[in-house]
Amino acid sequence: MSDQEARIVAQVDKRLFVGGTWRDSASGATFEVEDPSTREVLCEVADAGKEDALDALDAAHGAQADWARTAPRDRGEILRRGYELLMERQEELAVLMTLEMGKPLPEARGEIAYAAEFLRWFSEEAVRIEGRFSVSPDGKSRFLVMRQPVGPSMLITPWNFPMAMGTRKIGPAIAAGCTMVLKPAHQTPLSALALAGVMAEAGLPEGVLSVIPTTDPGAVTEPLLSDGRIRKISFTGSTAVGRKLLEQSAGQVLRTSMELGGNAPFLVFDDADLDAAVDGAMLAKMRNIGEACTAANRIYAQAGIAEEFSERLSRRMGALRMGRGLEEGVQVGPLIDDKARDKVQRLVDDAVNRGARVLVGGGPGEGAGHFYQPTVLADVPFAAELSSTEIFGPVAPVLPFETEEEALRVANDTEYGLVSYVYTRDLNRALRVSEALETGMVGLNQGVVSNPAAPFGGVKHSGLGREGGRVGIEEFLETKYVGIGGI
Ligand code: NAP
Repeated sequence: MSDQEARIVAQVDKRLFVGGTWRDSASGATFEVEDPSTREVLCEVADAGKEDALDALDAAHGAQADWARTAPRDRGEILRRGYELLMERQEELAVLMTLEMGKPLPEARGEIAYAAEFLRWFSEEAVRIEGRFSVSPDGKSRFLVMRQPVGPSMLITPWNFPMAMGTRKIGPAIAAGCTMVLKPAHQTPLSALALAGVMAEAGLPEGVLSVIPTTDPGAVTEPLLSDGRIRKISFTGSTAVGRKLLEQSAGQVLRTSMELGGNAPFLVFDDADLDAAVDGAMLAKMRNIGEACTAANRIYAQAGIAEEFSERLSRRMGALRMGRGLEEGVQVGPLIDDKARDKVQRLVDDAVNRGARVLVGGGPGEGAGHFYQPTVLADVPFAAELSSTEIFGPVAPVLPFETEEEALRVANDTEYGLVSYVYTRDLNRALRVSEALETGMVGLNQGVVSNPAAPFGGVKHSGLGREGGRVGIEEFLETKYVGIGGI
């Protein structure tokens, strides 16, 4: 770590943020945070236990009534200030993120801006929470429909977008008037702790947000989900953990938002603009080192262009520079840990054993970190395990197809339904295919769908609910109807 990097890490408070106060965990336990590109230990962070979690819940519950009564404009101004502070500190927060997560610095800068935009977007939504007044069909009563905050919310975020997955939940919760307990991923607690500091500085009242990193997530979250005072869980992470949390949420019949795993198909038809399709595939595959729920997991290329597309993609992938994300010019960082790298290697080996050809890459990268080479596989058979498993790494399997009907069948042949991508210049086909794809989002001639102003989310095993856009705030609002008689 350079002196400047060490200074940035030193600036972050490594304690728990509970009820507006920074404090050590009740047990005094801490855990190490590692730089995945060097395996160097960056620092130690307080390790929350059940007692700390219950303190955070007490704080959230205690602050809820006042927070719900706080004027929407005041809630919006806090979010706006949070947006400004994130942007003022974009550079150092980006360095912090790259240190703990590994993504190249330009991508980390982009994520800070993306994360800040959620705060700006929801600062504008806070003052637009609307109800309805109407006359009953028989004319004998009146309906007053009002929107109210759901109440104290449990937020759980993954390591791959350590800042944006936080603001995508905190933004609408603040706008709606909910208090929160946030549990970030153990690999990337520093961005979440820095965010807690920013929101406190922006004027968020004590108790509205607590942040409790931990190495024992089940022990910390389960007691809160079964307590009865938490009324909502918003989770981003794997489908397996999401399913477990849904089961736990059933006991107290919690409102749930689940942003889960993906297995995005990327369809390139013969009539596509091939330059645009290759650019789009690079983005859809390599954004965040392939560690994105939206990552193109299966690239289906129509027979007429499959070979040329694969060759062009291989040239681009082979030319990428891999290394420590803080080094100038690096485009591909390390994977988050050895477990992730071993999984990617296992999926590549399985595809090759079933007859896939390695066009570029195919093995671990050099260096102390968890690097894996940008890889393109051609002629991948449909039976290969990576067709049905989220790769979460820089591996692009290209699978050929003949007809539109076949492309739709294989694209939809998955339990996941987060996003799909389509490249075609035929307008009718574009609309037909977009309608038929069983995903919550479609990138039509574009390789990125994430936008704070758009409703992000999946269908099938990819989740429940939407984050961002006009509907994002709905996830944190209840509807109350008052029937008015005697008129
Ligand atoms: P993960 O293992 O499911 O972990 C996500 C979060 O859940 C982490 O904070 C983790 O804590 C916590 N967690 C794990 N077990 C838990 C339990 N028993 N009870 C409560 N919390 C628990 O997922 P990940 O590997 O970090 O992230 C990758 C996954 O997230 C991928 O499947 C990706 O597709 C998905 N994702 C989805 C979206 C979306 O918007 N749909 C966005 C980003 C990522 P620890 O860190 O301590 O394990």
